[in-house]
Amino acid sequence: MKKIDIIVPCYNEEDSLEIFQRHIEKIFQHVSELEYSLIYVNDGSKDKTLELIKTLCNENKNINYISFARNFGKEAGILAGLSYSTGDYVVVMDADLQHPPELIPRMLKEVEAGYDCCMARRANRKGEGLVRRKLSRLFYRFMNLITSIEVVQGSTDFCLMTRQMVNAVLLLHERERFTKGIFNWVGFNKTYIEYENVERIAGESKWSFKGLFNYAISGITAFSVTPLRMASVIGIAVMFIAFTYALFVFVSALSSDSAKTGYASIIIIMLFLGGMIIFLLGVIGEYLSKIYIEVKGRPAYIIKETSLEIND
Ligand code: UDP
Ligand code: MG
Repeated sequence: MKKIDIIVPCYNEEDSLEIFQRHIEKIFQHVSELEYSLIYVNDGSKDKTLELIKTLCNENKNINYISFARNFGKEAGILAGLSYSTGDYVVVMDADLQHPPELIPRMLKEVEAGYDCCMARRANRKGEGLVRRKLSRLFYRFMNLITSIEVVQGSTDFCLMTRQMVNAVLLLHERERFTKGIFNWVGFNKTYIEYENVERIAGESKWSFKGLFNYAISGITAFSVTPLRMASVIGIAVMFIAFTYALFVFVSALSSDSAKTGYASIIIIMLFLGGMIIFLLGVIGEYLSKIYIEVKGRPAYIIKETSLEIND
C-alpha cells in the first residue's frame, strides 16, 4: 500500500492542534487506498504544544513528531519534515486549519492523474487588511518581474507532492529557505486548486509586518540578482545625465557671460546621489549578509527530541 506523509510545522498551536487532528482523521476515514502518517514539527513552542503532540502520538500510531531545540521558523520546520518523510506522497500544511484538509483527497486525485505536485491557492484574501492585500499583490508582481521563477498570486505552501519532487526539493541546501520559491524552482508538472481564504481557528498569526517584510526581502534575494545589477544601470544613467548637462553648461557659458550659480540645485543633487549610493550599498549589504549566513554553514535546525528513528 502506498503511504502519504503529512508535515505540519507547529509553533504555539495548543488551541488548534486537537481540532486539526480530528479533521485529518475524518478525512482519512474515507481514503482507504492509502496509509497516512502525520509528522508534527514542534518549532520551539512556548506553550503546551509539545505535550499535546506527545499525547496524540501515544494514542495513535500514525503520528510522529520532531521537536526543535528552539524556534527556527516555519521554513526550517518544513525542511525537517521533508528530510525525515518516507512516504510516496507528501503534504505540507499549517496546523491552524487555514489550509483546508478537505482539499487533500482532491489534490491526491490530481497527482494520481499524473501531476507531480498539486498546490493550493487562495482565490481571495478575505479577512485580511487592505494594505496587507495590496502589498502582497505588489510583492508577487515584483517577484515575477525580476526572477525567473513564477510564483502564482495567492499561492501558499500547502501542497501535495510526489517522492520524486520531495527528493528534488531536498537537493537545495540553502539555509535561508523561501519554500514557495523552491517548490517552483525545482520545476515538475504542477497544478493548482483554489480555495476560499479562511481565518485561523484559534490563536493568532505569527506574522508581524516586519516579519513579512523580511520574508519578502529574503524571497527576492534568494531568487534574483537583479537588484545588484540595478547599481550599474543607475550609474550609467546618472553619468549620461551628467554628461548632457555638462554640455549644456558649456554651451550656455559660451553664449552668455553670466556665470550660473545654484546653491539649491547642488544640495539637491548631492543629497539625491548620496541617498542613492547609500541605498545601493544597502542592497549589496543584503546579499553580503546572505552569503555570510550561507558560508557559515550552520544547520537550518537542531532537533532536541523525536519519535522517529534518526541515524545521522
Ligand atoms: N509556524 C512555525 N514556526 C514559526 C511560525 C509559524 O512552525 O516560527 C507554523 C504555525 O504553527 C502554522 C504555520 O506555520 O502551522 C503558519 O503560521 P501562521 O498561521 O502564523 O501564518 P499565516 O497563516 O498567518 O501566514
Ligand atoms: Mg495561519
